[in-house]
Amino acid sequence: MAELLQIAQLGNPILRQQAQLVDNVRDENLQQLIDALIATAQASNGVGIAAPQVSESYKFFIVASRPNPRYPKAPEMEPTAMINPRIIAHSTEVVKGWEGCLSLPGIRGLVPRYQAIEVEYTSRDGQLHQQELTDFVARIFQHEYDHLEGMVFLDRVESTHDLITEQEYQQRIVQNLG
Ligand code: ZN
Repeated sequence: MAELLQIAQLGNPILRQQAQLVDNVRDENLQQLIDALIATAQASNGVGIAAPQVSESYKFFIVASRPNPRYPKAPEMEPTAMINPRIIAHSTEVVKGWEGCLSLPGIRGLVPRYQAIEVEYTSRDGQLHQQELTDFVARIFQHEYDHLEGMVFLDRVESTHDLITEQEYQQRIVQNLG
């Protein structure tokens, strides 16, 4: 079982830094950090986590969509490490959806994101991947990608009226609207 890592919270300057490119994917420390990030995201009911959130300012994140109490309708997928990720192309269509963040506990925001994106990243075995992502998984990618640029979802909401507490979210959005 990989160790669980402490998650940096909003206000920690590391969340506002530009992360550095990873130059050696096979580095043993990087591989261990990937395992620890996956374990930390799962233990926190996260569907993604970026390295800067555990105070490692490097360009990689985990996308690990699966249904859990924080995201009951998330699609199921294997946790995937995406290293030095890039967005190559995106749809013109933008959709708003609710997001939370392990670095901003207790708050949810209605965030506009591209409905579909074409991305490139290196996987933990060193292979370069090109892939199209849509809907919720595209949203996770864009959220995590922002962390590598020193941004959080609050920077993307169009109005402060699009921010609600986790408790209200659970009562109003999850239970009432399904
Ligand atoms: Zn986040």
